[in-house]
Amino acid sequence: MDKTMSRRAVLLRGLQIPVAGGLLLGLVGCESGDSNGSAGVALVCANPDDMTSAQASVRKTLRYTEVSADTAKTCAGCAFFFATADGCGSCGIFDGNAVNSAGHCDSWSADS
Ligand code: SF4
Repeated sequence: MDKTMSRRAVLLRGLQIPVAGGLLLGLVGCESGDSNGSAGVALVCANPDDMTSAQASVRKTLRYTEVSADTAKTCAGCAFFFATADGCGSCGIFDGNAVNSAGHCDSWSADS
C-alpha cells in the first residue's frame, strides 16, 4: 500500500466535505427568501455593485425594500415612480435609479 497516496486521499476527502457542505448551505439560503424576510425571491431591478456610494446611502437612509410590507404603498403607486419594464421602474428620489414596482421606501407619496 502506498502511504503517500493514502495521505493525499485523506486530505482530498477532508477538503471535499467542507466544500460540499458550503454548497448545500448556499442552495438552502437561496430558497429561504430574500434579504427583506419575505417569502420567495423579489425582483431586484438595480445591481448594488453598479451604484455609487451616495446612491446606496440614499436607499439605506430611506430604508428602501424590494417588497413593500404594505401592498397599498408600493413604488408602483408612488408619485416618484416611473415604470420602465418587467416590473421595474425608475425613482425620482433615487436620481432615476431603478426600483422594484413592488418596493417601498420612507419617501413614499401617493400618486394622485
Ligand atoms: S420614493 Fe420610495 S416608494 Fe416612491 S418610487 Fe422611490 S423608492 Fe419607491
